[in-house]
Amino acid sequence: MGKNKTKVIPPSLYIHIPFCLKKCAYCDFHSIPFDGPLASRYVCALSVEAQRRAGEMGVLGTAGTAAMETAYIGGGTPNSLGIKELETLMGAVHRNFSLRPGGEFTVEVNPVFGNPDKLKLLFDAGVNRLSIGAQSFSERELEFMGRPHGEAEIERTFFDARQAGFQNISLDLIYAIPGQGMESWQHNVEKALSLQPEHLSLYELTPEEGTPLYSLLERGHAVMPGEEDVLAMQQRAEEMLLKAGYARYEVSSYSLPAMEAAHNLNYWARGEYLGLGAAAHSFKNSIRWSNVTDPQAYVQALDEGRLPVERSEPVSPDEAAREFVLLGLRTTRGLDMEDAEGYKLDLGKHAQPFVEGGLLEISGGRLRPTGKGFALLNRVTAELIEAIGL
Ligand code: SF4
Repeated sequence: MGKNKTKVIPPSLYIHIPFCLKKCAYCDFHSIPFDGPLASRYVCALSVEAQRRAGEMGVLGTAGTAAMETAYIGGGTPNSLGIKELETLMGAVHRNFSLRPGGEFTVEVNPVFGNPDKLKLLFDAGVNRLSIGAQSFSERELEFMGRPHGEAEIERTFFDARQAGFQNISLDLIYAIPGQGMESWQHNVEKALSLQPEHLSLYELTPEEGTPLYSLLERGHAVMPGEEDVLAMQQRAEEMLLKAGYARYEVSSYSLPAMEAAHNLNYWARGEYLGLGAAAHSFKNSIRWSNVTDPQAYVQALDEGRLPVERSEPVSPDEAAREFVLLGLRTTRGLDMEDAEGYKLDLGKHAQPFVEGGLLEISGGRLRPTGKGFALLNRVTAELIEAIGL
């Protein structure tokens, strides 16, 4: 595929921890309520999968381990695991994988489990970045979303993380929550900025079918904010973040200089990755595979000596081209026009109407969304994909 620089770079490692204290009202991720005995068995199963998969990864690191570009433990709620399970997990990571020197190693953290001993354990085990799911600093909004923590726990977790040694912390915030006015959103952004995180992710609340939020809306018990209000919230946050020295580098992501999330950048650049755990996806040598989503079934497969793979299929040239466009246009780096030729795309031709409409721009051999294009990104990418015929 074109220059395909990703071939010489080791893959990224993702590990999925499927446990949460309880399900949030908007969540359609693969997660189940915390179950202590299952969590212990799950972590043992992860160690087995890590060992089996590490040998297949190709690029060798130190002491025969598989080299990884970045590592990310997400969920679910990774810090729902107890100290003993976290130690087992970290041991399995280091026995089987090695990160390049200075490589980014992130763990997602929910403030409800923000125990300082766990944070210290993670830091001492080489984790150098935390992503804290704050979501809001309003007790009303946290309660509406079914978040199991309050504002005080977010701040306490943040301070404990700094105390443990973390110098790279990201905060997640959610906007467009029913009943959330501009004033409350602005307050949330101000509170987040006052903590001085290195990175912020701002996600628009999306009602997914099958979630409690979706039924609430269907029954007319809540109303999503209108498109104009949502755009105004995005714009206000952007102004505040730029003024505070952050730059947007992806549709939902802002960082201080040189603090972009390397793991996510690899994903948006269609780099390779190995996913371990229930529901984890992997991508290597143009093959994509995914594990079974049920944690019990995942543990059982590894107990019986089987790999827990549910689906595995080659990525077709059309799919690869579609991913190249969809993922690349999420970032301010945008798409390399020369790489596009490797995907047999005539981007210049198809993007022209969007450039004329002020939604996309071409400079330095790259195609990227304008500010207006970012605000309407889903529509822009869907229409571009259709124009290309993918
Ligand atoms: S903490 Fe995250 S993964 Fe867990 S239920 Fe809430 S939104 Fe879903």
